[in-house]
Amino acid sequence: MHSIAIHGGAGAVPRHTLTAEREQRYRDGLAAALDLGYDTLEKGGCSLDAVTAAVRSLEDNPLFNAGCGAALARDGAAELDAAIMEGRQQRAGAVAAVRHVRNPVELARKVMEKSRHVLLVGAGAEEFALEEGLALVPNAYFRTEERRAQLESERGGRPVSDLFPSSQGTVGAVALDAAGDLAAATSTGGMTNKRQGRVGDSPIIGAGTYAKNGVCAVSATGHGEYFIRAVAAHHICAAVEYRGLTLSEAVRELLHQKLRELGGSGGVIAIGRDGGIVTEFSTEGMFRGIRDSSGQRRIDIY
Ligand code: ASP
Repeated sequence: MHSIAIHGGAGAVPRHTLTAEREQRYRDGLAAALDLGYDTLEKGGCSLDAVTAAVRSLEDNPLFNAGCGAALARDGAAELDAAIMEGRQQRAGAVAAVRHVRNPVELARKVMEKSRHVLLVGAGAEEFALEEGLALVPNAYFRTEERRAQLESERGGRPVSDLFPSSQGTVGAVALDAAGDLAAATSTGGMTNKRQGRVGDSPIIGAGTYAKNGVCAVSATGHGEYFIRAVAAHHICAAVEYRGLTLSEAVRELLHQKLRELGGSGGVIAIGRDGGIVTEFSTEGMFRGIRDSSGQRRIDIY
């Protein structure tokens, strides 16, 4: 059995603002990333390669809030966070507040595989990217007209989610490969109008991203501060491992009880040890796609 699930952010698009043409573009972007990840598994590739390929594809797509098209910080620049984790040895790598790394998920993977560390931030992370030969770009590469308009709107006291489609749109992927190895990856530009240096849940291992073989792999999206406080991804994994909840029960408890009690909302994709996929959200929608070796393939928004 092998399977993959991806997300392109939760809570992002008020239904009435999504035109058919725009919806199709989101669906196409999700499908391309999903199939890229799935093909990796199909060819015998590992789950780490599958989630890296899927997330890189979403980072390169300006529709989503990661890589090109990232939400902009207060000073008008894009500041990016990403993480990756594998379930066999539970190795993890993450980067935060980088401004010039074209594909932050690739840098997170380098941190995991080529450094003695788990989380690198800012200038130190970018120095490491340079040493590892990763593509660096001017910050303008990430900034789209739409994100500029959203930042202006937020600065003017009008929350972007009321006005624009895709105010969030963080991306992530979870996968199980034929060897039984689980992996998770998440990448984001964070929240529009955030302070410089603000770090969300995506690169915090156990908050927005987590994987453990024999249990589950999790990638989250939503209001990061709440996911950090709930230690969301690890909460789900621990509920399955120690309390015997099904993956679906654990995800629902996290989103609809724990997070709700704190006042937060968002979405989660998760894959269990058997390859079973759970996608769930407490927002109006979540861009998502799932595909597995039983022939199941779906792209959904609401
Ligand atoms: N979780 C991300 C963050 O807070 C944002 C999102 O998922 O849209 O940085």
